[in-house]
Amino acid sequence: MKTNTPTTSQGAAAVGATVRVGLDPAALQQGIVDHLRYSIGQLPALATPAHYYRALALAVRDRLQDRWIRTTETYFEQERKLACYLSAEFLLGPHLANNLLNLGLEEAARGALAALGQDLDTIIDCEPEPGLGNGGLGRLAACYLDSLATLAYPAVGYGIRYEFGIFAQQIRDGWQIERTDKWLHAGNPWEIAKPDICYEVNWGGHTETYADEAGLQRVRWVPFRVVKGLAYDTPIQGFGVDTCNTLRLWSAEAVESFDFQAFNTGDYFEAVEAKLRSETVTKVLYPNDEPAIGKRLRLAQQYFFVSCSLQDMLRILDLAGVPVERFAERYAVQLNDTHPSIGVAELMRLLIDERHLDWDQAWAITVAAFGYTNHTLLPEALETWSLPLFRECLPRHLEIIFEINRRFLDQVRARFPGDEARVARMSLIGEVGDKQVRMAHLASVGSHAINGVAALHTDLLENSVLADFHELWPERFSNKTNGVTPRRFLALANPGLRALLDRTLGTDWLVDLTALRRLEAHIEDPAFRSEWRAIKHANKRRLADYIATQTGVELDPNWLFDIQVKRIHEYKRQHLNLLHILTLYRRLKADPGLGIPPRAFIFGGKAAPGYFLAKRIIKLINAVAGTINADPEVNERLKVAFVPNFNVRNAELIYPAADLSEQISTAGKEASGTGNMKFMLNGALTIGTLDGANVEIREQVGDENFFLFGLTADEVARLQRQGYRSADWLDSHAELRAVLDMIGSGHFASGDSEVFRPLVENLTDSDPFLVLADYAAYVACQERVASAWSDPERWTRMAILNTARCGRFSSDRAIREYADEIWGLQPVAVSAHIA
Ligand SMILES: *Cc1c(COP(=O)(O)O)cnc(C)c1O
Repeated sequence: MKTNTPTTSQGAAAVGATVRVGLDPAALQQGIVDHLRYSIGQLPALATPAHYYRALALAVRDRLQDRWIRTTETYFEQERKLACYLSAEFLLGPHLANNLLNLGLEEAARGALAALGQDLDTIIDCEPEPGLGNGGLGRLAACYLDSLATLAYPAVGYGIRYEFGIFAQQIRDGWQIERTDKWLHAGNPWEIAKPDICYEVNWGGHTETYADEAGLQRVRWVPFRVVKGLAYDTPIQGFGVDTCNTLRLWSAEAVESFDFQAFNTGDYFEAVEAKLRSETVTKVLYPNDEPAIGKRLRLAQQYFFVSCSLQDMLRILDLAGVPVERFAERYAVQLNDTHPSIGVAELMRLLIDERHLDWDQAWAITVAAFGYTNHTLLPEALETWSLPLFRECLPRHLEIIFEINRRFLDQVRARFPGDEARVARMSLIGEVGDKQVRMAHLASVGSHAINGVAALHTDLLENSVLADFHELWPERFSNKTNGVTPRRFLALANPGLRALLDRTLGTDWLVDLTALRRLEAHIEDPAFRSEWRAIKHANKRRLADYIATQTGVELDPNWLFDIQVKRIHEYKRQHLNLLHILTLYRRLKADPGLGIPPRAFIFGGKAAPGYFLAKRIIKLINAVAGTINADPEVNERLKVAFVPNFNVRNAELIYPAADLSEQISTAGKEASGTGNMKFMLNGALTIGTLDGANVEIREQVGDENFFLFGLTADEVARLQRQGYRSADWLDSHAELRAVLDMIGSGHFASGDSEVFRPLVENLTDSDPFLVLADYAAYVACQERVASAWSDPERWTRMAILNTARCGRFSSDRAIREYADEIWGLQPVAVSAHIA
């Protein structure tokens, strides 16, 4: 290999240029070799795949660099509105393969590495996953970044550079063990630190009033602590365009001049401790998916990243010479759930205290700039902060929130005279029990647009959680059904299907997912169906191999792959799935000749480390797997596997291998779901309740191609109003009782009758998510699944229809709706002038 070609000084400039930007295999190979030598300092003979990964990543980043700079420049020059997507989580998944796809560099990279004796797939697997999110909400933010860039919308993602992302899950003796996620330990070749882009963020202390030079009364915040936020930028390259947007993540650092005051008084160690305390702000992602937890550090994280982001927007306005009065013409700021909603009060503070605007002007700008996306209906997940804690941490913001509230409640009283119950319900300050600041109310009052994430969810929002706000401002509400990116979750995740689609339809489906409709013309072609099945079979083989290496469980790709992967939560009802498995298990034990098609039940998902019942559910899945997989009386019909550490990387193996997608949440509890869309995209059929986006999936695919069961959201609400008694459902179902008794008896725990008792008692005593009420309908529906599966040609037709009709669930469609209806945002063509 003559690749390390030292050149003459004359040739160096030309080679230097291709080394950085050339898109052919030879130039890329040269770039890799160059980085191996000059950026990593590795002898080629000793380079491991991990070294090649870093070298290739750096070479690919070089190829993004001109597009990235040109994009930033174009937005600045053209003075166009920018969408700022504020999210405490971005569950990005590995970058390398995605960037190769979006740049059209996959084949060049494969060739360049092959010439170096390396295999691209092995190199891709070396990338640590940037797991800066818990689940659906963070993954949505990542899909939206991909669509924004692909559709050439001017946009920035703002978030937190957690040093430790979501924990890595190991399974030991069936239990979940959490390991810290040291994703940065070998450095991160994708990010560029921008130490000159930094802002100070105050914390704690008190406020005082003073008179300014003009004699006007103003407020000054005298903080207890100041932390510095440093920008780290990651390029977000669009697919097939030159647009390369920025994800700007903030990292906390101590402000020496502030904390080191203690040093002057001789207490060096106290000063160092204070420095460490500052830097803990961005140390770790909170691993709780749904229930809000009122931790001070969490509030610090939220305020920290929001303040840095808003200060950054103001600085960019200043650089462009645009007066701050025009803030809302230049920025659309979207709140991904209430996590960044302190931004409403922070922008008011910045505009009033620092930019000296008057209240009314500042308020008009704030409301015009912000939009709020709600992600949950679970009352326990609605974020609130105890008032004393909030005052101690953010004293100035509390004053501002009181003033927003005073003016807001005057408006409510004027509209609904004498209705003090309504005033108490709508107040930004909750007075039930200890006083709290209600972040969903702050977000709603401070935003011109409020949206839910699926049609049913928006409906329920308007009629329950935010009903009073809807009555006051119906025009602020709209629905924006979630979507997923077909680039990562079809093109990258399912190369076999991608090739078939390209061959059959051409490649426009990648940027217009509704083009998949044209697949319907091929459904009646037996040769096409058989190709389809072969691809699915290969995907199942690939997943079975992965599961075998991870867990030792061997699965047969000819079996029905029945998959539930998502965070473990009672409302998502992994235990309902288990009750069905155990029903089949009992039936088979009683009648070994029972004619049921063989099924592999596959689970994956993390439980919040402090979520007692969710962790027991994982243990039960593994205990049932252990018993069933080892029992020759049933293991030729049933197998169960738990895939450890569900994350974006293994999601890309799992979704394409599914025959059946389990979307069985209690109706009215899942806001949208996006896992359901990723399964559909890859041709899985859904068994599900009428919840979240399942409703719209069923509309698209047709009733006859969707396995529907269970109570509706209305029925759930009515049952709970009437006083739901789970015992009523037990008495009428001997089989259900027998299954629960079996779990409680210790049958799956070597006779230990304690370990699963809390789970069984939860179901028999209260059953807050109506598992027992839906059990019979679920089991009956699974019998319809089994019968459909026994006709492979019919099943394949339904599978193809699912992929054909998933166009609505592209994140491109969702982003166009946000841009048109909430942000007033136009695409901006970027031309990078790259040969
Ligand atoms: C899509 C996705 C989720 C969300 O799944 P739901 O089924 O919608 O809850 C969570 N985690 C990962 C890694 C995902 O890719």
